[in-house]
Amino acid sequence: MAQFRSWGRYPRSEAVLYPLHWQEDPLPPTGEPMLAVGMGRSYGDVCLNHGGTLLLTRPLNRFIAFDPVAGCMTCEAGVTLGEVLDVIVPHGWFLPVTPGTQHVTVGGAIANDVHGKNHHRAGSFGAHLQRLALRRSDGLTYHCTATTHGDLFRATVGGLGLTGLILSAEFTLLPITSPMIAMESIRFDTLAEYFTLTRESDAGHEYTVAWIDAASCGSKTGRGLFLRGNHAIASGGNTRPAPAARPWQIPCTMPRGLINRTTMRCFNHLYWHRQRARRHHCEVHYRHFFYPLDGLAAWNRLYGPRGFFQYQCVVTQPAVVEEILRWVVRSGGSSLAVLKVFGNHPAPGLLSFARPGITLALDFPNRGHRLFSLLQTLDELVLADNGALYPAKDARMPPRLFTASFPHWPQFVPFIDPAFSSEFWQRVTATDKGAVS
Ligand SMILES: Cc1cc2nc3c(=O)[nH]c(=O)nc-3n(C[C@H](O)[C@H](O)[C@H](O)COP(=O)(O)OP(=O)(O)OC[C@H]3O[C@@H](n4cnc5c(N)ncnc54)[C@H](O)[C@@H]3O)c2cc1C
Repeated sequence: MAQFRSWGRYPRSEAVLYPLHWQEDPLPPTGEPMLAVGMGRSYGDVCLNHGGTLLLTRPLNRFIAFDPVAGCMTCEAGVTLGEVLDVIVPHGWFLPVTPGTQHVTVGGAIANDVHGKNHHRAGSFGAHLQRLALRRSDGLTYHCTATTHGDLFRATVGGLGLTGLILSAEFTLLPITSPMIAMESIRFDTLAEYFTLTRESDAGHEYTVAWIDAASCGSKTGRGLFLRGNHAIASGGNTRPAPAARPWQIPCTMPRGLINRTTMRCFNHLYWHRQRARRHHCEVHYRHFFYPLDGLAAWNRLYGPRGFFQYQCVVTQPAVVEEILRWVVRSGGSSLAVLKVFGNHPAPGLLSFARPGITLALDFPNRGHRLFSLLQTLDELVLADNGALYPAKDARMPPRLFTASFPHWPQFVPFIDPAFSSEFWQRVTATDKGAVS
């Protein structure tokens, strides 16, 4: 058994690590449940399997086919989105959807059906998936599309790794003429201003997202920076270089308590004041725009040995976002808060998280029971709004919030591979075992 940590470094977990090098490699002959993992960039326990076996998919990192005319990529599931970008951007293509880090595998992007700053235009990653190959413990490999093994396809997209091992996938790409993003950053003072900005921007901008101050009190709560952007049209000049291949790295786990009420307020204050003008236009390399956090490797160590949580919900009403922020600020604030309005796209997976509504992601250092009690209060607000929590970021949602968040879960259950499980799944079905088995 070896320790395996997810990005939030909570909970602690040990499993047998079983690397897969070839698609034909046999699955381990063990009675313990298994689970495929990619880069472990999920914050909580969807990529953990305490006491079981973790199938390490990173060595499955081969490109299979790239059509630079049609814009279509086929690769093994352990290829990261960053590696895909390295191949496709020079040929004038981009990912159809990308999360806020490039260090995630294609398999992980499918299993969490990830979303990005263009959800209002493009939906989630699964909407661009043409086919996938899935190995199950019955020894068979299923080649799934929306129409061939369509039900298994819809269960596997956003299926949290529970339907088997994704071996490879084919997805369509977005044409671009430049690696640069023409972006604008706009300061706003209130959430009402944010909602106006996002309403006005979504039609003309491929990408929109906002950082908000969720640590300062009073009238400062909810102020923020609204980012919007489009792929730049190639002009031949003004190309800012790509970020250094080797980013700065946090060298070791920082002492407990480094991120606290005071440092969170300071960080949020400085971040708000980094831009003096109301509006700022510029062209930036796509890595600066999409992956600012990748510029500091292992930044999760800043949160110390107890780790941290991200609470990402989707709710329908702006008033619920305001209420959540009030609670958060009253109990000490959040270190990083991000807001985005999702578009109205049909979910490609039975357990897809992204849906019409407003998504708010809040980071918190692990402060033990004080934090748990705040998050329970937020759970009630999300439940009352018929909202949902994102499994990719979760390590604690109670079973009743999971079942309320994902009303299609009973249709999903028959597609679970009996040899696969995860800590997340055991946790959210713990009190419903009879119903779920
Ligand atoms: C800085 C940062 C920013 C982020 N921003 C966003 C964002 O904007 N939007 C968003 O949606 N998410 C975001 N995330 C979350 C991240 O995109 C997802 O958690 C993603 O699924 C992680 O991919 P991974 O390769 O690390 O997979 P892991 O975390 O290792 O696994 C994730 C899930 O995929 C399953 N899985 C992995 N590989 C396979 C496979 N080959 N076959 C079957 N199942 C498999 C695992 O079992 C697990 O259930 C962010 C994460 C970080 C750290």
